[in-house]
Amino acid sequence: MASEPTHDRPPHADGIDDASALETARAQLLRASSYVDIDENVLERLAHPTAVHEVTVPIERDDGTVAVYTGYRAQHDDVRGPYKGGLRYHPGVTRDECVGLAMWMTSKCAVMDIPFGGAKGGIVVDPKSLSPDEHERLTRRFAQELRDVIGPTRDIPAPDMGTDAQTMAWFMDAYSMQAGETTSGIVTGKPPAIGGSPGREGAPGKSAAIVARETCRDEGIPLEGATVAVQGFGSVGANAARTLDEWGAHVVAVSDVTGAVYDPDGLDVATIPSHEEEPEAATRNAEVVISNDELLALDVDVLIPAAIGNAITEANADEVAASIVVEGANGPTTTAADAILTERGIPVVPDVLANAGGVTVSYFEWLGDVNRRRWSLADVERELETAMVDAWETVRGVRDERGVTWREAASIVALERVAEAHTARGLWP
Ligand code: GLU
Repeated sequence: MASEPTHDRPPHADGIDDASALETARAQLLRASSYVDIDENVLERLAHPTAVHEVTVPIERDDGTVAVYTGYRAQHDDVRGPYKGGLRYHPGVTRDECVGLAMWMTSKCAVMDIPFGGAKGGIVVDPKSLSPDEHERLTRRFAQELRDVIGPTRDIPAPDMGTDAQTMAWFMDAYSMQAGETTSGIVTGKPPAIGGSPGREGAPGKSAAIVARETCRDEGIPLEGATVAVQGFGSVGANAARTLDEWGAHVVAVSDVTGAVYDPDGLDVATIPSHEEEPEAATRNAEVVISNDELLALDVDVLIPAAIGNAITEANADEVAASIVVEGANGPTTTAADAILTERGIPVVPDVLANAGGVTVSYFEWLGDVNRRRWSLADVERELETAMVDAWETVRGVRDERGVTWREAASIVALERVAEAHTARGLWP
């Protein structure tokens, strides 16, 4: 299964700093609001989702028994356009986590100036416990349970942790069969044969690489020979690492849950299997294996946490020795860790900018669906590059103008756009 940007419970089971996605997203909203002239009522409204749909998803298991799962779809804000965001299948999915992740989707779409709002959903299930047939039945039933609250101009799901292009194909088919017409715009991240965009799968990693390249330039670090450590070798981490390697950087460490492969002279990242190519095989042929904690403490130019949420916490933020942190995962840095890194002068380019290539190419895919016009890979790559550099420059401008961090600047850009839309539309009735 693809590993899109994720947010998870902390890897440190010590109870320290295990902020939920919702707590972190609310803290970021509050912080950004101190820089923005925003109506208190709009702010209060944005601290809460518009709706959270909880559904029961029963399926017949392969052995003939019935299993019942819980699914959610949190719809945070749609003032700028239809709700948009992934569906994740993971045992740690909770209502609050979906809300927090949906809030980040609202910010992500606003930072990129994409006319979508924010949503996130999922099912509380370990996808490894499902056969492909069970995964299909679960997805079709989930699509049916959500059918009244989603739609191609209403709420458009996409892949996230534990779901992939095939999941989206089943979801799209189930929705279309009930609608009586092929409704390709109901989801993004589909297989190209049914309207999926070329380059969609690699887009979050590609955008993290573009953002790392631009930030290196800003910090005066030549990309040629810059050292990079990547935590997580799923679709985000592997695509970021391979793109930066192609551009001349030295990727010295990459990891999966088993640990990290390390070579100070640079790894041949093209030959290391990503999670999709072969799960948990990153360290298989490694000469030197280090732990994930040691990877986070490497003295590198760029650190890309692209595995799970809450990877950099109060407990290890002091150990981070990178010159720049570029967030590949959703929510990899807790609020307390963010404060420590800021205090230490380490720039952290946030998830809502760095991995936004995923939803940006989702938007291109959706445009192709509703206009019945396919985009080529060259179109997608050119437009993604322009969109990322434009958004990066806008955020950098706010950072410089207001003397704030990258995260604050991105939150300010997002909040100003969302607040302006709320003010223009007003409250109904
Ligand atoms: N799940 C992805 C994210 O967290 C993409 C969402 C989308 O394309 O709608 O950004």
